[in-house]
Order: sequence, then C-alpha cells, then structure tokens
Amino acid sequence: MKVFKFGGASVKDAAGVKNLVGVLRTTNESPLVIVVSAMGKMTNALEEVVKDYFSNQKELKASLSYVYDYHQEILEQLFPNKSHEAYKEVNLRFEELKEFLKSNKSKYHAFVYDQVVSFGELISTAIISHYLSEENIKNTWLDIRQCIATNDYYRSAKVDWETTQKRISEKVNTNEITITQGFLGAEQDNNFTTTLGREGSDYTAAILAYCLNAESVTIWKDVPGVLNADPRHFTDTTLLEHISYREAIELAFYGASVIHPKTLQPLQRKEIPLFVKSFMNPENTGTCVGKGVTLSPMVSCFILKKNQVLISLSSLDFSFMMEENFSEVFDLLHRFKMKVEMIQNSAISFSVCVDNKYNNLESLINKLKSNFKVEYNEGVTLYTVRHSQPNEIKALTQNKKVLLKQESSETVQLVVQE
Ligand code: ADP
Ligand code: ASP
Ligand code: MG
Repeated sequence: MKVFKFGGASVKDAAGVKNLVGVLRTTNESPLVIVVSAMGKMTNALEEVVKDYFSNQKELKASLSYVYDYHQEILEQLFPNKSHEAYKEVNLRFEELKEFLKSNKSKYHAFVYDQVVSFGELISTAIISHYLSEENIKNTWLDIRQCIATNDYYRSAKVDWETTQKRISEKVNTNEITITQGFLGAEQDNNFTTTLGREGSDYTAAILAYCLNAESVTIWKDVPGVLNADPRHFTDTTLLEHISYREAIELAFYGASVIHPKTLQPLQRKEIPLFVKSFMNPENTGTCVGKGVTLSPMVSCFILKKNQVLISLSSLDFSFMMEENFSEVFDLLHRFKMKVEMIQNSAISFSVCVDNKYNNLESLINKLKSNFKVEYNEGVTLYTVRHSQPNEIKALTQNKKVLLKQESSETVQLVVQE
C-alpha cells in the first residue's frame, strides 16, 4: 500500500485533473490511498467567504459565486454531459455550505472557518473521484472526517492518534484505490469538522501512511523535488536527491514550505520513505527523504520567510530581563497564536522574531506595552541557511540591513530589512 498526495497546484484546473490520471497510469499503483487538497487557491477563496460572512455580508454572495463558478468550469470541462452525477454531488455540497452559513449561530471565527474552508477538499475529491471512475479507474471516496479524530482546537487541530489509528484500520480498505481529503479532521464530541492547519494535506498523507504501515508516501509537486532553495526566490537551485529525516524536519521546521513540518515525524517513526516528485515528470526520481546521509548532494540550503515581525522588549525600570519576564512573554505569544521563529536575549533586552499568522499583532503589542518597553519592525525577512559557507552569508546580506543574527554549527539565521 502506498500513499499519494496531490496538492492544490496539481489540480488547479481540468488539465490538472487529467494529468493526475496520467500520473496514476504511469505509476500504476494499486492498492493506493490518494489524498487531495482543495483545487488551486480555493482554500484562500473560502477564507474570503468566511471574512465576508463575518464582516462584509454584501460581498458574501460574490465570494461564494467565485468558488461555485471555479468548480463549475472544471466540471464542464471534465464532464460534457451536464446530467452527470458529479454536478449533483457538487451542488449538494454547495447547498450544505449555504445552509450552514444561513443557520449558523456561532460567532467563533475559528469554528466557522473550519466548517466553511473544508468544502474545498470535499468538493475537489468528489469531482476527482467521479473523473477517475469515468476513466475506468475504480476508486472509493472516503470522508476522512470519519477517520481523523482531533481535539477542538479549530484551524490547527491536534490529532488523537489512538482513535485515528483504530478508525483508519476499520475504514480504509487496503485492497483498493481510495481517494480522500487532506487537511480535514473531526472533533470527537459533536463531530464538527476541524482542520489541521494551512498546507496540512501533506500531514494527512503521513497520518494515513503511519496508520496503514504504508510502503511509502509520494507528494506530487510543481517542482522537481526538494531543492536547496525556493525557486520562486532564488536562481540556480539544486535538486536534493536524498535528505535524512532529521535534516528534512529541520528544513521544514525553518520554513522550507515544500513539505509541511508535521509530516515527517510520523514517517520517521516507522521509517516510511517520503518521495517528493514532479507531477509534470512522474518518471523522474525527485527527492527521497529517508534513512541515510544528511544531504545528497551536500550543499547549503536557503530558507526565506517574508513578512515577519521583530519585537524587542526591555524592562520599564532598567532592570534585567529575567526568567519571570520570559515566562510572561511566552505566555502572551502563545495566547496570541504568534509563531516564534527566533529568539535572542541580552541582559536588558529580549528580541523575538514572530510570524503574525493570525493578525493578532496589535493586541499583543498593547498587552506587552503594559509591562515592557516595546519596539517592533514589521515586514522583515528571516533567512535561515543550513550548512552554509561564510562567503554565502556575505553575499546574501549584501545591500541589506541585518537586524539580528544567530549562528550555530549547522544553521545561520538572519533577520533583515530589505
Ligand atoms: P502543493 O500544491 O502541494 O500545496 P506547495 O505550493 O505547497 O504545493 O509547494 C510547492 C512549492 O513550494 C513550490 O512551487 C516552491 O515554490 C515552494 N518551495 C519552497 N521551498 C522549496 C524548496 N526548498 N524546494 C522546492 N520547492 C520549494
Ligand atoms: N487546502 C489546504 C490549504 O490550502 C490544505 C493543503 O493544501 O494542504 O492550506
Ligand atoms: Mg499547498
């Protein structure tokens, strides 16, 4: 049994869905679990729906239509016969979404968010499952919410492994091709939909692989594999043919967004290899993450995170920054869901570089100001370089203002204003 994961970019249009069939034909795997994300940028589009629902009801109809029309166009290109079952199923999902928006009484943003954005994956898998059947690839559509049990920490739900293992063993038929949604789960008290965090479909593939003792996981991407830097920001990148689990965990943790950071630990536990391959060239070997050497070829790896915030704190009364201050600061960072990327302290000051993912900066700064002197820079960039050479750091920082630098034997991190 293998697990394949297709992300949004691979199924962004009808041609992408047809290409997915091509990948399945080329690889010719069965049994197989296929995990699919929402099509193209549909998760972002559904985020807009949530935004309009809460703060701009006038636009709600338009943001919903955008999502509806996007899928309709793909349906029309895949199924010329308008009475095909796929249309009915997608329409039913839309009715369900509209009904939720009409009847919902909860003002809890994260809860509503998960109930709404989950339709991206529910619809994409419905369309693709029907298309596979049309192409004579026998498959079973599985509602992953019946398998992945989580807590109710909406937007970033935590998996209950024991229950999940039990349900996956019961519900997934390991003799056939199953198609299911990435990113989704369900909390256990009321069965409400949860999500595992943006880009969480890779993680879903890993959860399934772990619970099914799969032979391998392949994530199909719009790049040849894992490169030593994001090709959107760096030229002359090198394909990494092999990466150890530990190195891949470090790269993903620091923000190499090609693999979701939670994906690797479950795979490492059971030594299940992870392949990252191009959906355009499925025959190419791509990258293998597994046991063995740290990196092959051994090159420096560059990770860039834009739009970070550098916050510097010092005490109001010129006293030292001590443990009790740190615990207060971390408590607030946690409460305001700030992702801490880098910290540095001196006798009288404490600097922290954070990712303001949930737009809570203003509230956090206000809180901090009651006990500390606060300075902060928004829109800074964090560079992380693994296994770097001194000349590379010099080249990287040329013409940039370095606000903070930290160095260990394997990693250099720089917060810069560009
Ligand atoms: P998915 O369609 O599965 O969601 P993503 O868009 O999340 O795929 O991931 C693929 C993208 O990750 C690539 O287009 C690339 O720009 C980006 N990326 C970032 N870091 C790397 C890296 N080190 N190697 C390859 N791609 C990278
Ligand atoms: N569709 C979700 C997102 O865009 C999950 C994923 O693609 O992995 O974040
Ligand atoms: Mg993605």
